[in-house]
Amino acid sequence: MQFRDLQKQYQVLKPQMDAAVGKVLTDANFISGAQVKALEKKLAEYVGVKHCITCANGTDALKLAEMACGIGKGHAVFVPDFTFFSTAETVADLGATNIFVDVDMDTFNICPKALEAAIEKVIAEGKLIPKAIVAVDLFGQPADYTAISAIAEKYGLVLIEDGAQGFGGRIGERMACSFGHIATTSFFPAKPLGCYGDGGAVFTNDDDAAALIRSLCIHGKSGEDKYNNIRIGMNSRLDTLQAAVLEVKLDAFAEKELEAVNRAAGWYNARLSGAVKTPVVLSGFYSSWAQYTIQLPDDGSRDALQQALKAQGIPTMIYYPRGMHQQGAFADLPYALQCPNTEKLCRTVLALPMHPYLEETDVETICKAVLENL
Ligand SMILES: *Cc1c(COP(=O)(O)O)cnc(C)c1O
Repeated sequence: MQFRDLQKQYQVLKPQMDAAVGKVLTDANFISGAQVKALEKKLAEYVGVKHCITCANGTDALKLAEMACGIGKGHAVFVPDFTFFSTAETVADLGATNIFVDVDMDTFNICPKALEAAIEKVIAEGKLIPKAIVAVDLFGQPADYTAISAIAEKYGLVLIEDGAQGFGGRIGERMACSFGHIATTSFFPAKPLGCYGDGGAVFTNDDDAAALIRSLCIHGKSGEDKYNNIRIGMNSRLDTLQAAVLEVKLDAFAEKELEAVNRAAGWYNARLSGAVKTPVVLSGFYSSWAQYTIQLPDDGSRDALQQALKAQGIPTMIYYPRGMHQQGAFADLPYALQCPNTEKLCRTVLALPMHPYLEETDVETICKAVLENL
């Protein structure tokens, strides 16, 4: 059994995938081929925003969004403590200061109450300028953008959505990667929509931000003359090959894969709820199930369950074993806040196999093993 079965997915998509990849090899338009523009158009339509700019990976997408918002030295940026390292890494890379905010025990996403308290604390201390919030759609469920947008507005902060794990999720009819001023995603192979290597994208309705990001991701080129570099940027493009792969995968994602992961989550919930703490999807929210994460009572029972499942050939993962404030790279940060929920989650979470090609019999086998080893 695989944690995320990409081989099975390829077997299902093989005819279209081989044709799409073969065309790139034949045309030999490896950088900025027509597939890149076509994919950006499709992605923007799917998400329901005006602009999509693809780039080399989800970390660059975040950095481009943060650069476009003018984030830099002297700024405080509010980031959930329980996330993948990139969310905070890019903030630090631009010289700004991360303020790690505790998360909600049910959704794993940034807690609006803790966020507001953190902003008030930074204002009271008066050393940094509160500048931005980077909210993360952890494990596939959008963050609580109704509450977070209101807080961003109240304090005059820029809101960025890190939708690396959230692509395909929604709140009501509004799709993930359309929240905030700018949103980003990742096409790392194991994400809800993954390519066959690294890839990422930035989404926005703001024409000026889109033009700036297009310039930044190709060496700060000017819109008119590409050999006139008018600012310092990066080299961050999505390869034509990856765009071709994503065009095929996006069709499968929208037509059946997103529904398939939601069906699989339902199978898990039906068998596990009551026995362990199952993931909570808020009313009106829809998840793209980047992970299906259960919570055990403590680290002892979690680690024992993981070992027992491993012995039966069932792979599981611990996302994440430490919070941002517990990362070695951030050991010296002066603005340490208390994040007890993150610390508890790091000791108790366990992600079970989750992907669109999981069969109900697989979920039965996994749940039986979980229930026998609690
Ligand atoms: C994966 C991930 C990223 C970074 O994406 P890459 O494509 O690996 O650079 C950023 N934020 C979150 C929350 C992620 O899960």
